[in-house]
Order: sequence, then structure tokens, then C-alpha cells
Amino acid sequence: MTEAIDLLIHARWTVPVEPAGTVLDNHSIAVRDGRIVATLPRSEALTRFRAARQVELAEHVLIPGLVNLHTHAAMSLMRGLADDLPLMRWLQDAIWPAEGRHVSPAFVRDGTLLAAAEMLRGGITTCSDMYFYPESAAAAFAEAGMRAVLGLVMLEFPTSYASDADDCLRKGLAARERWLGHPLISFSIAPHAPYTVSDTSFIRARALADELRLPLHVHIHETADEIHNALATDGQRPLARLARLGLLGENFIGVHAVQMDESDIELLSRYNCSIAHCPTSNMKLASGIAPVPRLLDAGLRVGLGTDGAASNNRLDLFQEMRHAALLAKVGTLDATAVPAHAALRMATLAGAQALGLDASIGSITPGKQADLCAIRLGDLESRPCFDPVSHLVYVAGREHVTHVWVNGESRVDKGVPLLHINDSELLRAVSVWQTKIVN
Ligand SMILES: [Zn+2]
Repeated sequence: MTEAIDLLIHARWTVPVEPAGTVLDNHSIAVRDGRIVATLPRSEALTRFRAARQVELAEHVLIPGLVNLHTHAAMSLMRGLADDLPLMRWLQDAIWPAEGRHVSPAFVRDGTLLAAAEMLRGGITTCSDMYFYPESAAAAFAEAGMRAVLGLVMLEFPTSYASDADDCLRKGLAARERWLGHPLISFSIAPHAPYTVSDTSFIRARALADELRLPLHVHIHETADEIHNALATDGQRPLARLARLGLLGENFIGVHAVQMDESDIELLSRYNCSIAHCPTSNMKLASGIAPVPRLLDAGLRVGLGTDGAASNNRLDLFQEMRHAALLAKVGTLDATAVPAHAALRMATLAGAQALGLDASIGSITPGKQADLCAIRLGDLESRPCFDPVSHLVYVAGREHVTHVWVNGESRVDKGVPLLHINDSELLRAVSVWQTKIVN
């Protein structure tokens, strides 16, 4: 008697990420009702299951869908607007003024759709976002069929979105109310950074995150200036201030963590925090090299983020995996730092753990949602292939992604996006925004 299932994927290689370091040859993944039912040798799968659809991936490696632990999706409309500037000049002279003029629900909807299309095509099935008008972003991610954790951003100063941090929270919580229970959409509390959020607002953010059981998503220790200014105004390093305010904890995701001393790492470790490492953004803004091997040695969960397309300028986790592996080596002068399997784990399971979603995503494990990504390693530039995980990090790019599933539903099939988003309509909308932004 065979079991009826929806989908059976036969892959040359499967890298489940958990157990760590495993590569399965000629295995099949069975999917029913959007969940992974079994991972088993192909011959056993063919006798055990009767699938409505079978997919042959003869030259491919199948991995969990990638988890982008930090982005500002709608900023894709400002891709390449201001390059080659340090963080504060980039923010104050270019990004904040442009946002003040243009950011609106329509801007966020179109920018987020553009980002979701780019991410899904590149194998990213989940992202942790932080931006204004989270309700418009939620609608765009739901329309694209992408999983997203929307950060309810908090900033003390007035923006086109809200008058202050309290107003940010009021609006964000109302958006959350309307999206409660959606299978792809969830939320975090996102106080922007220590230099843009007051003590009172941080305390409120912590209370809400505890009450609603949400992650806290905060930029921390990105640049040396941030530390110098905090020492001058508060007399302490930003992480020490956050610890004093009770912000640190298991649900705390610190973004960047570039400028770190031993006391900072000790604090993050003591409170069992997570880190979103954004190597390309850190290089492009010349922020520095995050001490990732030391953070990993301290037992911290370190996921990978692209940051926004305005400071990267790609929403491409293949690039981030490669940069994370290379930057760790050059930062420590140790070629064994962040090997390929570790980089893949950062881009999948570690991100899911940081978001508290590892019971449902982040590895190819029976019972988890079928968020999957297939990469073809059949071209001459991918041959020979001794270790597909090495190729994922050091050889392949998002252009090699051929299939993507979210909850077992196809989002990219044989390289063709099936996104319920019309490319030409999206490109038309983007070109209208480009004209507005330059004028
Ligand atoms: Zn950021």
C-alpha cells in the first residue's frame, strides 16, 4: 500500500543542514500539505509514496530555503541611489532626506514587492524586515508568497510614517492585529538603534516583546563612531546601556555587531542573544569586520542578512555566504574560520533559530514546512564537484537557483518565477519611482 502525497523531489544531493555536515546522495523529499513528510533514499521513496507531482533534480543540490535575517525590503527602490559614503553621511545626506520625501504606503508596497521577487528568485524564502508601513509590507510579502517577519520599527524623531517612537508602535501594533494568524506573516519589535531610540522607548519595546512573545530586532555596534558618541553622551557602550535597560535576552537579535570588545561579547553570550551578520553592508559602508568566529565560539547564534538594497546593493544570500566565509578568514588570518558548512548553517538554521521559527523552518527535517531551494551544479563552471556545500559558498550564485518552494508551493520552477507578480507591471511601477526620486 503506497501513501498519497503532494510532491516528491528527487535530488542528486540533499543538504538538510541538520544534522550538521550531512550531504545525502540520491535522496528524495516527500511533501504533503506543505510539510516535509520524509527524507529517504530514492528507491525507498518510489515504493513508499504515490506523489501527485514528482520533480527530478539530477544535477542539483537541494537545501532549506535561505533565511535573510536582516533587511529593509522597500529600500530596494533606492538601490544605488547613494554609494561610497560612510554610514552617517549616507543616512543623513542621502537616505533620510529621500525617505522623508517619498516613503508612503505605496512606496513600501512596490519596494517590498520588488525585494520579495528578487529574494525568492535567489532562493530566499524568509526574511526579517525592518521598515515603515509594515502593513503595506505584509500585504506585499503575502502577495508574493514569501515568509516574512516584519519589524515594527521605532524611531524617536518624526518621519513621514510617524511622529515619534510611540506613534510608530501604535501604528505597528495595529498592523499586527490585522495580520494575526496569517501563515506567512509574523512580527518583531524593531527599535532602530541605540542612537535613534530613547531609554523609555527601549523599556517599552522590551515589555511589549515579552508580552506578545516577539523577537526584538535592533541595529547594534555598527561603526566606531557609534561607540565613541555613546561613550561621550551616556558614558557607556551601547550594549552595556541595553543590558542595563533589560533589553538583552534570548529573543534579542543584534544586527551588525561589528565593533565589539570582550565585554560586549560576554554580555551577548550571558543573555543568549542572536546576531544578524551583514558582511557586504559592513564592507560597503566601511564599518569594519564583525568578529564572527569569536561570536560563534561564545555560543551565539549568528545568522546572515543582506541589509537593505541601498547599502549592499543586492538582496543575495549566496553573496553573503561567500563574503561571510571570506571576511572571517581575512579578519582572523585563519583560513579555517567559517568553513562552507558553517556559512550555509548561518544562512538557514541559525537565522530560523534567531527568529524563533526553527520548529517550522531552517532545515530539511520531517515535520517542518517545505521551504526549499534547488541549485543546479551542472554547468561547466560548477564542475567538477567534490563537495556541493563548498560549491554553494565558493562557486554558485543565485543565478544557479532553479526551484524554490514555500510551504510546499512552487515559487520558482525550472528557473521561471511563479510569483503572482507580473514582471512588466512591477518594472513599470519601479521606473515611476525612479523618476520621482531623482526629481
Ligand atoms: Zn539595517
